[in-house]
Amino acid sequence: MPVYRVGFGYDVHRLTSGRPLVLGGVTIPHSTGLEGHSDADVLTHAVIDALFGALALGDIGTHFPDTDPAYKGCSSIGLLETAAGMLHRRGWYVNNLDTTLCAQAPKLAPFIFRMRRNLATAMGVEPGRVSVKATTTEKLGFVGRLEGIASYAVVSVIDSKPAGGT
Ligand SMILES: [Zn+2]
Repeated sequence: MPVYRVGFGYDVHRLTSGRPLVLGGVTIPHSTGLEGHSDADVLTHAVIDALFGALALGDIGTHFPDTDPAYKGCSSIGLLETAAGMLHRRGWYVNNLDTTLCAQAPKLAPFIFRMRRNLATAMGVEPGRVSVKATTTEKLGFVGRLEGIASYAVVSVIDSKPAGGT
């Protein structure tokens, strides 16, 4: 019988002018972008935390500290690839991932498939196992005031290679 584990991740970044908006490895044209040491890809950070959480390996700050100049401006999709590699070396694989992005603006629907594909490729699974959803918060809270973007991620991992993986 295969063994499953579940991991959860949550992240928030502040919106600021003069920064690119990168979500799920997709650079999205917008008047503001996310502040952070890396590319501040809030969706991918939540996914990385979910992967580490599934195996109780700490969090993104444990493995990719923002005090390390190696990660300044780096691609978070690259960090996800590294995190997925750590799982694979321990004999674990991603079974499926579900995420929700909370952003008041811009409209994210046109970019969702590319985000799913980027996340799936980085984790070595097909996009059918990766879900990205986007919601506004009805103009409520820091998300609604356009001060930041939040993201939630839940992942299930399995101790044998799922069909269709790469
Ligand atoms: Zn982050």
